[in-house]
Amino acid sequence: MLISHNGTMQEATLTPSPYTPRNRTMPMDGINNLVLTIRQTYCFQQVNPDATGKALDANNNLVTVNAWVPARWEEVCNNFILVAKQHWDNRFCLRIPASFQGYNYSHNQNEYRPCIHCRYDAVRVNTPQSGSINVQVVDVPTGSRFRAHARLWTSQDTTLKTNFTGNQQITVVHEVGHNLGSDHVNGAGNGLPNYGGVGTYNSRNIMGGGMVFEGWNAYSWQKAMEHMTRVSFAQWEGFLGTTLTPVWVRRLSFMENMFYRMGEAQMYATPFPA
Ligand SMILES: [Zn+2]
Repeated sequence: MLISHNGTMQEATLTPSPYTPRNRTMPMDGINNLVLTIRQTYCFQQVNPDATGKALDANNNLVTVNAWVPARWEEVCNNFILVAKQHWDNRFCLRIPASFQGYNYSHNQNEYRPCIHCRYDAVRVNTPQSGSINVQVVDVPTGSRFRAHARLWTSQDTTLKTNFTGNQQITVVHEVGHNLGSDHVNGAGNGLPNYGGVGTYNSRNIMGGGMVFEGWNAYSWQKAMEHMTRVSFAQWEGFLGTTLTPVWVRRLSFMENMFYRMGEAQMYATPFPA
């Protein structure tokens, strides 16, 4: 299913474990959770210096940049993808609201409600495609003050740097958060208050000026569940970690268990979109 985040269409896929895709009476994976993957496609585009050796940054300041050389270009672009996945993949679980029974499964005559294991994937393409996130990239020297935004990155944005909130942050991880549909901790806008100010708890979040992830940073996965089920995103509560275990719901009677198994014997019974 394609989901719109921050102006781009991104692919969201909900599957039971690859091990037993058609039999929900069996454990779905080691801890029986569903897997929700959001995949972004990135197309990086070179920005080279003008005649004076500079390029415009996000604040419309002309800042000194380097000309791209091929080997450096490949290294930087591949590193963007790697760092994005390192920080956003396997970060969250969602808890399915107790009122939503659609993904429940039976095992050993008990009914369980799984959690949703959130995966992130990023792929790189060399030419813009429908749905690709097209990002302009400059090569800057270490220590450059060139300011990035969600569609304008620098070669230094995969390293930890101190910013105006007093925190350290890997800029690319923050910008991917924007591309996943999240605003700053304190609303859209690029002022210091939007980042949570200086030295505050909120400013340490990845959508402030720091590297701290919290459950609500699973926003994009919550929105994907809203699209798939029409149950409001706020009901799909995000938690850090991927080891949340399914919730025991009830012991099934012999007959209930029979009906459950018969219902689940159909390929992709109702809950799973094809
Ligand atoms: Zn930002």
